Amino acid sequence: MNRRFDAIVIGAGQAGPSLAARFAGAGHKVAFVERGRYGGTCVNTGCMPTKTLVASAYAAHLARRAADYGVMLESPVAVDMQRVKARKDKVVRDASWGVEKWLKGLPNVSLFEGHARFASPTTVRVGDDVLEAGRIFVNVGGRALVPPMPGLEQVGFFTNSTIMDVDFLPDHLIIIGGSYIGLEFAQMYRRFGAQVTVIEKAPHIIAREDADVVQGVLEILRSDGVVVETSAECMRVEKRGAHIAVKLDCAGGAREVVGSHLLLAVGRVPNTDDLDLDKAGVKTDARGYILVDDKLHTNVPSIWAIGDCNGRGAFTHTSYNDYEIVADNLLNADNRRVTDRLTAYGLFVDPPLARVGMSEAEIRKSGRRALVGKRPMTSVGRAVEKGETQGFMKIAVDADSKEILGAAILGVGGDEAVHCILDTMYANAPYTVLQRAVHIHPTVSELIPTILGELKPLA
Ligand SMILES: Cc1cc2nc3c(=O)[nH]c(=O)nc-3n(C[C@H](O)[C@H](O)[C@H](O)COP(=O)(O)OP(=O)(O)OC[C@H]3O[C@@H](n4cnc5c(N)ncnc54)[C@H](O)[C@@H]3O)c2cc1C
Repeated sequence: MNRRFDAIVIGAGQAGPSLAARFAGAGHKVAFVERGRYGGTCVNTGCMPTKTLVASAYAAHLARRAADYGVMLESPVAVDMQRVKARKDKVVRDASWGVEKWLKGLPNVSLFEGHARFASPTTVRVGDDVLEAGRIFVNVGGRALVPPMPGLEQVGFFTNSTIMDVDFLPDHLIIIGGSYIGLEFAQMYRRFGAQVTVIEKAPHIIAREDADVVQGVLEILRSDGVVVETSAECMRVEKRGAHIAVKLDCAGGAREVVGSHLLLAVGRVPNTDDLDLDKAGVKTDARGYILVDDKLHTNVPSIWAIGDCNGRGAFTHTSYNDYEIVADNLLNADNRRVTDRLTAYGLFVDPPLARVGMSEAEIRKSGRRALVGKRPMTSVGRAVEKGETQGFMKIAVDADSKEILGAAILGVGGDEAVHCILDTMYANAPYTVLQRAVHIHPTVSELIPTILGELKPLA
């Protein structure tokens, strides 16, 4: 059946539902298409389930350390993986259902549950329905990359999606990929009680981070008992009886890891290969990311791409910000741009890493004259009181303009504390404003003004 709308939104990820609600609220007739679970990656297989599992793992970790706090448990800590999974499932189900209920209750929004494919620059097919609109917004997200690794076809493996069904404790979980997703799973499964080995192809985990950040995260993982193997330049996978062996050297040398289960966490690919983008004439880059301008407009006047599928961000907050940019520009005649966005993200191991702005390496490359302040968490009162003193806080500023250039907080509460730095950067205020702010005692944030009073030239 042919149906005409003012706008079509494809994908109920982190940008699509809010965009649909905003257009519908402004009186536009919107068609919304979703082929899977409402809420997309973040809600179903990404941020929400992982952070829920990280919380269970933290509870197990703290319980094991109870005696450090003078709390005596009478029996050893046991983790019931079925209950861990049930807790995670409930959080996910409630959130997904919240998005679904919201979308289904929106006036002016018609829902189409199925796979969308372009038929022309202004037409989308969903099963037998043909939807037409002058504006089409693509929020199709991405999925786990399964690399062409020799032997992979012989063994079973998990991705971030399929591991969500696990309700047992793997004996030895091998994780290929030492980046953000892989490391969160590594620490959580280790804390649940599994043996865990992370295998990273590069010489370092989280390759884009500064050496001190890499070292700090490594120390945290190793203190939990996670084994990390790096420089595995050419991996091969083999079935070894009921086990899985991963060879780390091309030459077939002795370096190998044998485990019971395998998780692949080696990157993401955009869900753009099954959209028939060619029928609309939409251009992508070589990896399939939809090419967009600074306002998220594709090369086709009627089509915008928002969220992970445009390659301009890989986070829930960047996807949500894409929605805000497009909605404000189209509905409020605003002039918002992706390049106004500052880099900010977290790595939710415990304690977490929060990063904003430039790394030290990027500052050096830029040639700017910079000052840096750094303090270990052992000298942060709140961390000492909590008995969680791993990590450090580091802030870099421009020595001439006094602008904050970047920060890394690896430590308890760092994921929240970092926002005073980020907001000062968004306010375009010099670091001296934050240096003179009076923060609440006792918090992790209260040391940020102090650090800004201890700046030294970047080595
Ligand atoms: C394990 C993991 C942990 C993560 N943790 C964090 C975190 O802590 N913080 C953070 O900011 N980010 C995190 N992320 C990233 C975050 O999940 C994504 O950046 C976020 O979901 C944004 O995605 P999106 O809006 O682009 O689309 P998605 O959330 O991927 O949603 C896309 C939707 O489009 C639908 N769709 C796709 N193709 C079609 C089609 N042809 N027709 C109809 N529907 C279609 C899909 O079914 C899906 O529902 C994590 C990701 C993973 C994998």
